[in-house]
Amino acid sequence: MTVAYLGLGANLGDARQTLKDAVVCLAQQHTIAVLAKSSLYRTAPIDAGGDDYFNCVVKIDTTLTPHRLLALCQQIEHHFGRERPYRNAPRTLDIDILLFDEQSIEEPDLIVPHPRLTERAFVLVPLLEIDAALTIPQQGRADTFLAHVADQRIEKMKSPCQCPMLNALSANDAGEPADAANGASAKGRCS
Ligand code: AMP
Repeated sequence: MTVAYLGLGANLGDARQTLKDAVVCLAQQHTIAVLAKSSLYRTAPIDAGGDDYFNCVVKIDTTLTPHRLLALCQQIEHHFGRERPYRNAPRTLDIDILLFDEQSIEEPDLIVPHPRLTERAFVLVPLLEIDAALTIPQQGRADTFLAHVADQRIEKMKSPCQCPMLNALSANDAGEPADAANGASAKGRCS
């Protein structure tokens, strides 16, 4: 089993709900155990137009290889209607592999640690919410990069998630009372 971190983002459609549903979808995979989930954050688009994004990070334990995990993430993106009309286009769902164990991978289709991990508040802030002392292979402590992204707008949402299963996983305990019906509907959306 291997610990990995995934970054999720969306800014098309019901982006908040999509992120919640996508995390449930990941948790339903028999090859993945979701160990922790950050709060949801509303963030300004960077190098892109369109509406604000919603973002979160999940920490997982997986039996998949990095490439199989990438394929699964792309499959889930596709399931939620992801299209790629042009680079940095608004998206219903984006899932990036941020870290995979201590591995450094440099292949044409997969770069880990994710190359923009330390340049994006929407990744660093939720990542550090889950693991405040996290280190990035060959780059050192993740929190040392926070100063570089201090000018990027990011707002933590009050209620991380209405799903009881995911609230149990959430690194943040400021959640509102669980809503079983909402959690059930989210589960129903992942096939
Ligand atoms: P995006 O537009 O962010 O969905 O970019 C997806 C492309 O980035 C795909 O072609 C992936 O093969 C490639 N890619 C490279 N490294 C990563 C990574 N760490 N996580 C996800 N996609 C990656």
